[in-house]
Amino acid sequence: MARILFIETTYLVASVLFILGLRSLTRPDRARRGMQLAAMGMVFAIVGTLVNHEIVDYRWIVAALAVGTVIGYPLGMWVPMTAMPQQVAISHMFGALAATLVGVAEYYTAAGSVGPGRMMALGFETMFGSLTITGSLMAAGKLQEILPGKPMTFRGQNIVNIALFALTVGIFVYLIGHPENTVLFYVMLTLSLAIGVSMVLPIGAADMPVVVSLLNSYAGLASVATGFAIGNNVLIIAGALDGGSGFLLSVLMSKAMNRSFSNVLFGAFGTPPTAVSKAATGLTARSISAEDAAMQLAYAKLVIIVPGYGMAVAQSQHQVRELAEHIESRGGTVKYAIHPVAGRMPGHMNVLLAEANVPYDRLYDMDEINSEFDRADVALVIGANDVVNPAARSDPSSPIYGMPILNADHARSVIVLKRSMNPGFAGIENQLFYGNATSMLFGDAKASLTKLIAEVKAV
Ligand code: NDP
Repeated sequence: MARILFIETTYLVASVLFILGLRSLTRPDRARRGMQLAAMGMVFAIVGTLVNHEIVDYRWIVAALAVGTVIGYPLGMWVPMTAMPQQVAISHMFGALAATLVGVAEYYTAAGSVGPGRMMALGFETMFGSLTITGSLMAAGKLQEILPGKPMTFRGQNIVNIALFALTVGIFVYLIGHPENTVLFYVMLTLSLAIGVSMVLPIGAADMPVVVSLLNSYAGLASVATGFAIGNNVLIIAGALDGGSGFLLSVLMSKAMNRSFSNVLFGAFGTPPTAVSKAATGLTARSISAEDAAMQLAYAKLVIIVPGYGMAVAQSQHQVRELAEHIESRGGTVKYAIHPVAGRMPGHMNVLLAEANVPYDRLYDMDEINSEFDRADVALVIGANDVVNPAARSDPSSPIYGMPILNADHARSVIVLKRSMNPGFAGIENQLFYGNATSMLFGDAKASLTKLIAEVKAV
């Protein structure tokens, strides 16, 4: 009795910590704390589970802890921020693998003699777990460029996928009434693994972060089912939080890219264009020296910084903050314009800038800042490209047409820090770089910012 009370209490504390952790993640300045709270919640959940009387042998658990540490530590410590989306996909894969293995073990141990309710939970867990395993592996492969990033399609693919899914669900429903049919259970598992592959293959690498987030919600559903199957409350609560937040995030990301959710899943979007959409023939971009750029920044009253993926690649967030401090010490105001899909994952820029101790109240969401570009003296674009591409507003043939963008082109002067005229993620030309008010400061963002800091100090 005391043991059960202890377990349920640790689970309750864990659940509260998970919820508080998620809540803290809604603000960048509290995000780190949110992760710590969630990690603490996980410790409580593990401790509660370890005193479960059903554990007959702790040796396997110790071995699993050792293997988990060997895999988890390098994943957490050494994977660069730019590779975070594929790392997250791999983490989901492991979560789904755990849920699936529990489902199979429970079914196997019961030798098929499970009641309909339990079969429903086990079937659901195994189905969603399996398709998340292969789907996440495919997503990670595409993001890491081990697999081709372009959508792999064939005629009638959506129909084949829907038929495959319908067949699997049909077997699942049949199994609820006939759980003793072991062969069909494993057929369902195999078909689910195949669905994971066929579901992700036709989606381009550009949409993988949305897919990863959706798979996150599937892994959450599998955990909820696992919780019901083995009577574990913390799994039900954590799975529901995981499932709900993953689904909402996928929808929000689709919205930020101005894409319908179904279009992401069935539209075979994300094809890296083979040619730059509208060649900027005859146009030349004007380059600027660090000295001249620094002069503009030093005398500007309002500078709006637009960070993008290049800032993450160059890991130049500390230099960005330092430059902003120098501009401010000369009386200028610096604001940061954050596009919801800048970088390669939601909140990418917020996390990096928070790491560099940029005050949170200087970060502005797109809707808050867009009207301010009209009165900005300088828009300083640091490694951003697609999120400031005016083609999204004006070129219906552009793959990013309709995506809301930051109005950097409305500023009196635009200074762009990037290494070359190469396109960004969407693979398309950016007319902003050829604009009359635009100057390009070529080079790695960190090196350019270091020069700018020295020059602003010298003005
Ligand atoms: P982009 O990918 O459009 O552009 C990044 C730019 O950074 C490139 O043009 C590159 O130019 C430059 N760059 C790369 N390395 C460096 C460096 N070391 N120093 C200076 N510049 C560098 O980035 P954005 O942030 O503008 O846009 C994000 C894109 O990612 C959007 O298309 C979005 O839809 C997509 N995406 C975002 C997701 C998210 O959740 N955030 C999810 C899925 C997709 P050069 O090589 O010349 O230096």
